[in-house]
Parts: sequence; C-alpha cells; structure tokens
Amino acid sequence: SGKFFVGGNWKCNGTKESISKLVSDLNDAKFETDVDVVVAPPFVYIDQVKSSLTNRIEVSAQNCWIGKGGAFTGEISGEQLKDVGCQWVILGHSERRHIIGENDEFIGKKAGYALSQGLGVIACIGELLSEREAGKTFDVCYQHMKAFADAVPSWDNVVIAYEPVWAIGTGKVATPVQAQEVHVAVRDWLKKNVSAEVASKTRIIYGGSVNGSNCTELAKQEDIDGFLVGGASLKGPEFASIVNSVS
Ligand code: 13P
Repeated sequence: SGKFFVGGNWKCNGTKESISKLVSDLNDAKFETDVDVVVAPPFVYIDQVKSSLTNRIEVSAQNCWIGKGGAFTGEISGEQLKDVGCQWVILGHSERRHIIGENDEFIGKKAGYALSQGLGVIACIGELLSEREAGKTFDVCYQHMKAFADAVPSWDNVVIAYEPVWAIGTGKVATPVQAQEVHVAVRDWLKKNVSAEVASKTRIIYGGSVNGSNCTELAKQEDIDGFLVGGASLKGPEFASIVNSVS
C-alpha cells in the first residue's frame, strides 16, 4: 500500500566530516524513482545535511518537543524543524521509550503537535523480547497504536514503523513471516479502529537489523511497505541497495 518508504535513522552517530562523506555517497547513489527516501541525522547536523543533499532525499528529525517552543531547555520544537527544512520526525522510537523513558501519552502528544505543524510523523511501535515471549506482541503494538490514534487528527502524514525491540541493533532480524504477521495485525487494527481507507493507505515499514542482504526477502512481503534502517543507513551504498530492494 502506497509508495515504498525507506528511512535511515542515524541515531546519535556522526561528525561533520563523516556526515559530509555519507551525504556525498547518497548524492552519488541512484534510487528507484518509486520510493520515498528519508534520512534522520542528529539535530545539530540537520542543517548541514539539508543544505548538502543534491537529490530528492528528505530529512527527518529523531525527536521533537510536545508543543510550541519557549522555556523548555534542551528541546527542539516542530516549528524549528520546519524552519530548517525538515519534513519528518521519528516519534516513539524504542530507544526513547525504553532508555529515555517516554510514555505513550507523551509520544502521542508529540505526534499530534508535529502533524499540526505540517511535519510527517514516522510513528514507531514494537514489543520487547520479554513481551514477545509472553505472547503479548500484538497487545503491545495495539496499545502503541491506540496512543497514536487517540492523538492524531489524520493519518495522511503518518508512516508506521514496526520495530521489534529485540531486533534493533542486535543483528537478529525478524523473519519475513514474523514481520508480515505483525504488519497484517496492525493493518487490521487500523481497519477496525480507524477506517478501511486508512488501513489500506497507511504505510507500515519494518525496522530492526535490516541490511543489504536481508532486505529483499522482507520487501517481498505484501504488508511491508518499506524500512527504517539504523546501522546500515550509515553506509551510503548499502543504504542505497536497501532503498532499491522495493518489490
Ligand atoms: P538497526 O537497523 O541498527 O537495528 O536499528 C533499527 C532502528 O532502530 C531504526 O530506527
């Protein structure tokens, strides 16, 4: 459903120098025309990346504040992201949920506000290993979905990223069957709780140890509409090969 979408989440990595090399590799890469390509640098490099990209790659932030700017030391507002040409923001990433301690309500608020400012939202959901082992995978994903659904006025500018926490940065990618199964469940959830139209139009992308060798099989799954790539997005040619795995 929808155009294939591949995001590169650079997390807290890079220097001016390494990022300049990465952008130059991305500028040299040839991308399938029918794919949305987005990269998410750390805040402090967004401007550098935005002004040095020469192709159609869009730029995302990895987080933002829950509302309008002001006396919120250390935060970055949606307005500021728009001001530097950022089109997207990743919200609810598992590292923010589980390392920083963000909860569903806080993440939902951020999503609602970011959308109101014209940003696209990459809304992350996904279970811990212990939750999967306890048979709670679907319940956890539904709970994350509900928090987004309660807060977003429209799903037009939302891409859902299913990122099982046990697959992130571990080299333990979900099998195509495991990922497909959750993507179908999330789509059904949207159908039941939002609308059939939103369920069929909204892109559900997979993240967690995606690389140049496992992306093709995953991309063949009917309900996998793209990827959110961490480690492998720091290598330009490998990231390009993942973008071009569209099926
Ligand atoms: P890795 O691709 O490094 O597992 O990270 C995935 C991720 O968290 C993307 O947001």
